[in-house]
Amino acid sequence: MIKEDFNMKKLLEISHLKKSFGDTEVLKDISMEVNEGEVVAILGPSGSGKSTLLRCATLLETMDAGTLKLGGETACEDKDGVSVYVGKKELREIKNTYGLVFQNFNLFPHYTVMKNVTDAPVCVQKRDKNEVEKEAKELLKKVGLDGKENSYPCQLSGGQQQRVAIARALAMNPEMLFFDEPTSALDPEITAGILKVLRQLADEKMTMIIVTHEIEFARKVADRVIFMDGGVIVEQGKPEDVIDNPSNERTKAFLQKME
Ligand code: ADP
Ligand code: MG
Repeated sequence: MIKEDFNMKKLLEISHLKKSFGDTEVLKDISMEVNEGEVVAILGPSGSGKSTLLRCATLLETMDAGTLKLGGETACEDKDGVSVYVGKKELREIKNTYGLVFQNFNLFPHYTVMKNVTDAPVCVQKRDKNEVEKEAKELLKKVGLDGKENSYPCQLSGGQQQRVAIARALAMNPEMLFFDEPTSALDPEITAGILKVLRQLADEKMTMIIVTHEIEFARKVADRVIFMDGGVIVEQGKPEDVIDNPSNERTKAFLQKME
């Protein structure tokens, strides 16, 4: 008998995901799972479909075929090779369970830092404004932005803006966080500061899926590394296997180029 680990909750389950733009098949039969508390790094060359995978997983993009579950809830099921999504209300509820951080921060330029962080918890999650603001202050402190509550995004550096974006994602009390190249718009010395915040979150057992080109960070922080190329998962496993001892030629070639 196979023993199931009931303590291990699956927060993300994707099976047989396919996605095309026009005639171009960008994701070809992708299946992956992420357990609660896991940090998964997704590596791969530009154009391999990493962002599209993240966008499908976070309901920013619809998948053509395959099944998607987030936090144990079904977002879409495959019916005869077509992804059929649940209703808008259910999707909205699912969307409340995870946070997203992008390469270009995507802050609201006309909102202060405080309003950027508290807007969704107050307006979408309908939580008490005072309570949310108190939490937001703590979060801003945690990401190193103490005292910046009343600044506007244009008054902040890129690194500071990304810290706001992380605080904003955390303010939703997410079960899981998705990052799409969170440091690729930043200088190396600024990048180190952001990676430190991510590492702190990993130490706190936040579940994270991170698309990144930071190989050293993936090696040290990720529990699992997924290598994508040409719309497929070429290889996945522990960082020491995938990064230090890749079995696939495409992974080897990619890692050599990154050195
Ligand atoms: P990565 O994040 O790994 O660089 P992407 O997921 O952004 O890769 O892109 C994978 C492929 O899909 C690329 O060839 C890209 O041009 C194409 N693509 C991505 N988004 C769209 C879109 N909205 N419309 C058409 N093609 C797209
Ligand atoms: Mg991308």
